Amino acid sequence: MIEPAYIYFMKASLFFTSLLIIAPGFIHKPAPLYKDKNAPVEARVADLLKRMTMEEKILQLNQQTVGDNNNPNNNGYEKPTFPAGIGSLIYFGADPAFRNTVQKRAMEETRLGIPILFGYDVIHGFRTTYPISLGMGCSFNPALVEQACAVAAKEAKLSGINWTFSPMIDVARDPRWGRVSEGYGEDPYTNAAFAAASVKGYQGKKLSDPYSIAACLKHYVGYGRSEGGRDYHYSDISAQSLWETYMPPYEAGVKAGAATVMSGFNDISGIPASANPYTLTQVLKQRWGHDGFVVSDWGSVEQLIDQGVAKDRKEAGLKAFMAGVEMDMVDDVYRQNLAQLIKENKVPMAKIDDAVKRVLRVKFRLGLFDDPYTAIVEQRYLQPESKLIAQNLAEESMVLLKNDQHILPLSAGVKQIALIGPLAKDQADLLGGWSAHGDANDVVTIFDGLEKEFGQNATINYAKGCSFEGDDESGIGEAVNAAKKSDVVVLCLGERRGWSGENTSRSTISLPAIQEKLAQELKKAGKPIVLVLSNGRPLGLMNLEPLANAIVEMWQPGITGGPALAAIISGYVNPSGKLDITFPLTTGQIPTYYDMRQSARPTSGKYEDIPTDPLYWFGAGLSYTDFAYSPIGLSSAKIHKNQKLVASVSVANTGAVKGKETVLWYISSHASSISRPMKELKYFEKKEISAGDKSVYKFEIDPWRDLSFPDADGKKHLETGDFYLMAGNQKVKFELVE
Ligand code: BGC
Repeated sequence: MIEPAYIYFMKASLFFTSLLIIAPGFIHKPAPLYKDKNAPVEARVADLLKRMTMEEKILQLNQQTVGDNNNPNNNGYEKPTFPAGIGSLIYFGADPAFRNTVQKRAMEETRLGIPILFGYDVIHGFRTTYPISLGMGCSFNPALVEQACAVAAKEAKLSGINWTFSPMIDVARDPRWGRVSEGYGEDPYTNAAFAAASVKGYQGKKLSDPYSIAACLKHYVGYGRSEGGRDYHYSDISAQSLWETYMPPYEAGVKAGAATVMSGFNDISGIPASANPYTLTQVLKQRWGHDGFVVSDWGSVEQLIDQGVAKDRKEAGLKAFMAGVEMDMVDDVYRQNLAQLIKENKVPMAKIDDAVKRVLRVKFRLGLFDDPYTAIVEQRYLQPESKLIAQNLAEESMVLLKNDQHILPLSAGVKQIALIGPLAKDQADLLGGWSAHGDANDVVTIFDGLEKEFGQNATINYAKGCSFEGDDESGIGEAVNAAKKSDVVVLCLGERRGWSGENTSRSTISLPAIQEKLAQELKKAGKPIVLVLSNGRPLGLMNLEPLANAIVEMWQPGITGGPALAAIISGYVNPSGKLDITFPLTTGQIPTYYDMRQSARPTSGKYEDIPTDPLYWFGAGLSYTDFAYSPIGLSSAKIHKNQKLVASVSVANTGAVKGKETVLWYISSHASSISRPMKELKYFEKKEISAGDKSVYKFEIDPWRDLSFPDADGKKHLETGDFYLMAGNQKVKFELVE
């Protein structure tokens, strides 16, 4: 007998209902909480963590690489094959599609589908290359640097990168150290200001925004103190200077919300930075409340063996992990040893859980679980607005160090310009060191920049003159002839891009003799010389400075170096950069920095054979106009510890052209329980002032922030007494009372 349709239907639904009762999860299995993008991050982290095996957890704490490494210092490392569930990869490529296939493996071929965090060194731009950081610092324009970092983040993100190992905020006072080029100079406050700006630029308003990437403060901490300027070396840092000099940029970066921190290669007075529980856990996590994670530097876990604090890789892993390094960059020490260390009860599971939580937290905040793949967008590089930021930043980074008889800007009467030197037609070296996916072909040369700016009215007589180094003088004659037939010589000297950066220490900061020889011979032609310098460290200019009528420090300016320099030389742009690092006269003056402490005999203890003052102090930089500072006005000459003091100075542009002036506000106090530097920068502000106009700059002094000082454990002290406030050539005294 054939059943009526309704009976058949009833039987069928009974069958399916019983299935639901027997195996409720079979059809209605709810998605796990960690996959719910509306759930709070902490709940998602906790939910995922409880589902993970020990092996899965350990994998999250490791980073490997994919693609061809472009950091020559790390090429010796074998390329391991990484498991699908690895925590992070350094992605050397720029193809988002390839990156997506790697990500797909993690999402679809692992049990829990935890996305990989793709990191890369995006230091001064991704493809649109900006000036090196040491140059950017001279702009004293954090807002502009923030914009540049936002462009770098967007280009990187669209190429598959979620995390940059930047900013580097290692205060550096030894220009022999090649990595001085990667930071913002010698001053803690300046580094702190740019730390915050770049973190904001990379991370945007929210880490999960479409063009945000996570920042990484590096190299925590004191790496810039490498002894003798030799890279990777011991750093002997007193607890006092750790807190005064090296910590402030990190504290500012953490406050600005930096998602991650990288531990340094250096050994801080006997406890290496990558095995230092005090800096990594007590301070960073417990005192400052950083809830992201710390990644080691490349191989800096294994290197604890060379540094003499671990007998083997296992002990190195134990020390680094227990000190507070959550992720092991490339050396596979954690992957090979953590499980055993857990079994031996040397590493508690709770510590592993905390580390994994930190890594997952960053991944959730980045939105990687909800949107693991990179969008494919064709037009991602070198957009007009990105290049404009590059041009502005290059212009604002350049520092006019000397300008005798106002030889610059070049007058309209200049009809023949001799353009000389190894950098005049160079592209790669202007790009600067470690430039991510920057392409030398994108760089507009100095020659092309000048030709465009002056070509209508003047002839450019080019001669290379000499190479960067060596002893071939055969090109000097041609250069001298070019100088003789010209009204002015623009002489472009400096360093190759590979002379600064990682593992590029130099014993002298002077330029090679051949470059000095070229300048000496050109001087004999009797024409004014505009010396243009492109370099990644302060140079010793003892021999060159007397030969030059004007000096422009252009640093390694990135892709728009040529046009930016041309705009400065022609006067279309008024130079506004100020040095973020002191230029010693010569190598023998190292270390010399503006916030030194006073000597016991201030007028004695000088060098017998050379002047004791450097050639250019931190803050040096000229303009084509003149700025006159009024006396500093104070809201009160005496304040209590809980009061604020408003200081103001009026700056008048007394020259004929508009210009930007950065007011640097310094504080000093001459009697405290711990001696203070002669002066300390506490605030700066840059503004444009029209010719004949004036502008009032204000600084609101908050005693606990600006007048206190740390002790050797970072505890702040605020002591009553006299203070001095300085801006430009002005100085005023005030008193702090209880
Ligand atoms: C450098 C770091 C860099 C890392 C990854 C190391 O050699 O010291 O600054 O982030 O490599 O490329």
